[in-house]
Amino acid sequence: MKGKKPYMVAGPCSVESREQLGEVVHALSRVPQVDMVRCGVWKPRTHPGVFEGRGEEALRWIAELKENFPQLRFCCEVARAEHVELALRYGMEGVWIGARTTANPFMVKEVTEALRGSRVTVMVKNAPSPDVQLWIGAVERCRQVGLEDVVAVHRGFDVFRNGGYRNNPLWEVPIELRRLEPELPILCDPSHIAGRREPIAALVQTAMNLGFDGLMVEVHPHPDEAYTDAGQQITPDELSRLLESLVVKQTDSTVADGQLQRLREEIDVLDGQLLQVLAARLGVAGEIAKVKERGNLAVYQPKRWEQLLQQRRLTAKELGLAPDFVEEIFEKIHAESVRVQLELRG
Ligand code: PEP
Ligand code: MN
Repeated sequence: MKGKKPYMVAGPCSVESREQLGEVVHALSRVPQVDMVRCGVWKPRTHPGVFEGRGEEALRWIAELKENFPQLRFCCEVARAEHVELALRYGMEGVWIGARTTANPFMVKEVTEALRGSRVTVMVKNAPSPDVQLWIGAVERCRQVGLEDVVAVHRGFDVFRNGGYRNNPLWEVPIELRRLEPELPILCDPSHIAGRREPIAALVQTAMNLGFDGLMVEVHPHPDEAYTDAGQQITPDELSRLLESLVVKQTDSTVADGQLQRLREEIDVLDGQLLQVLAARLGVAGEIAKVKERGNLAVYQPKRWEQLLQQRRLTAKELGLAPDFVEEIFEKIHAESVRVQLELRG
């Protein structure tokens, strides 16, 4: 997968019928940026009793179709050894390990053992929780069985606040993954982050600005009629337009290097000041702890906390900062302050 940027994976959430598959692959074959077609064959569903994918039958349709599109590679999700055996038997060039599978090391082990010795591209989606080590662990299990073309896929995280998305992108997590695994290509799956069509273009541009290596986008010939993830799929034409308007940044550009260096130094100085202020603030929290103990007051004072938060939000607004962002920071600071106070009480 290394080389071309952005590496483009696109296709339906699920293969629904031979006709739907034929229609979408035909259309995608006319989008020159597309390298690989994604097609869900086995679908992990939250609730039972709904469409769970066409299974082996879908693989048969894909295998038939592949002969007419030699320039395209195909991939599907695998969650069990049996899925891997079938995917390989029907000539899939790639597989992806879904979010729910990455979360379970037993399943990752089963899937990767079944992949041992194959040359397919293996895409590892992050688990629903923002645990970078769980993500890396799945990548390591792929490497351990000798897989060479391993790629991470960022599909967002299911956290307390999803920020208006189906899964919060928490960009700091894939950024940390890049820091820990600089050679590992990372794709962005804006479809499962967004959960709806509207934010997809902006998410894709953000991913490119952050230096992601490629994309996995859900594309359906008639999104509103899709059996799964109808709200977040786009048409092949919409994909085409999106890719044409995309500005791809080069990560290793030397342009403006001197200027960047100066600005980074400025950031370093400001960060140092921020940390000093934080340390001073926690010092005051320690003093407060003593006073509360003398007065026999509870460490956590909900009314004071509510007022503080409202005030900080107002100040943030005056300073041109996003109040939600500032609130999140203060939630973290407050949690630490409570922790310090509890520790001092012993
Ligand atoms: C999918 O790609 O269709 C899918 C089920 O994704 P995830 O594992 O990221 O939820
Ligand atoms: Mn989907």
